[in-house]
Amino acid sequence: MISNRVKLLEAYKTETTQAKVKLSSNELSVDYPEELKDRIAKEVSRIAFNRYPDPTASELKEIVAERFGIRPENIMLGNGSDELIYYLSMSVGELSTGVFFPTPTFPMYEISAKALGRPLVCTPLGEDFDIDLEASLQAIEGHRPTLAYFSYPNNPTGNCFSKEKIQKIRSLGVFTVIDEAYYHFSKKTFLEEAVTREDTVVLRTLSKIGLAGLRVGVLIGKEEIVKELEKVRLPFNISSTSQVIAKLILRDYYHIIEEAVDTTIKEREKMLQHMSNMKGIKVYPSEANFILFKVECMSAQELHSRLLKEGVLVRNMSYLVDNALRVSVGKPQENEMFLEALQKVLV
Ligand SMILES: *Cc1c(COP(=O)(O)O)cnc(C)c1O
Repeated sequence: MISNRVKLLEAYKTETTQAKVKLSSNELSVDYPEELKDRIAKEVSRIAFNRYPDPTASELKEIVAERFGIRPENIMLGNGSDELIYYLSMSVGELSTGVFFPTPTFPMYEISAKALGRPLVCTPLGEDFDIDLEASLQAIEGHRPTLAYFSYPNNPTGNCFSKEKIQKIRSLGVFTVIDEAYYHFSKKTFLEEAVTREDTVVLRTLSKIGLAGLRVGVLIGKEEIVKELEKVRLPFNISSTSQVIAKLILRDYYHIIEEAVDTTIKEREKMLQHMSNMKGIKVYPSEANFILFKVECMSAQELHSRLLKEGVLVRNMSYLVDNALRVSVGKPQENEMFLEALQKVLV
């Protein structure tokens, strides 16, 4: 029989509606050259599908390490960082102890903790969507959670929390996970602390830098920590195909990703500027590849449908932030279409 624990869970929500312009999942808008596609086809055709993949994905790990400026010993790979979140919720602290995170945030912290029956210790974000330090310290003193998640920048609000506040919370003895899924758009990191401290790890992912379909997440931590976490990793969690394609792109085509990231950052600033001049919405600052905005002139659902009628799909975030939508930063042309559609349906 299915446990009450699982029966009471709500599945992760995602937006699967089709649209001409899809700006709903924070994917990177990048066009890979035909030449790369041909090379992928060739390399994939050489895979021995009857064999298991390299269980340690050692070559991929080496390239990831080089790209992120660390050593392979400090890395554990996951089938997306979602899988790594499960491993952390499973492994850090006893299951009877709590998991802390400020809300609203990425839903997988809650889902993984609840699936394992762990108590949640949450505090609502304060002003400017930063951590409410006093309330957090109080909650932590009271409930003694052993694991804390910080989305940095935070999805869906777009900002990075104050580093000092995170460090203060960690100093109470909480193992701290810094989820840097959007690192490439903020350039802010706890990497140095993750490779030197026993109480801190960083999560990165290839998903927001153009490779979401491959499902490759990266945990960075001290070698001793990585070694322990490796014990719960499913043996062949990175498929042969993902290993082959990710290696090829990170090794020979990384400049394409870097250019697309640079363009995205420039486009984000342009969009923020345009959107903050529009009436009927309230736009929040962003250090990620998406922008959160509150709808003040109608329901967020209504604006969402109106945009969809114009061919633009954004994400309704009202289940996390009151009457708010989140738009991913896409290609210049897509963003242009979004801005035009938004302007049109707001009046
Ligand atoms: C998208 C996202 C992830 C999930 O990344 P995957 O590697 O695709 O599983 C993790 N954390 C945050 C905050 C995200 O927004």
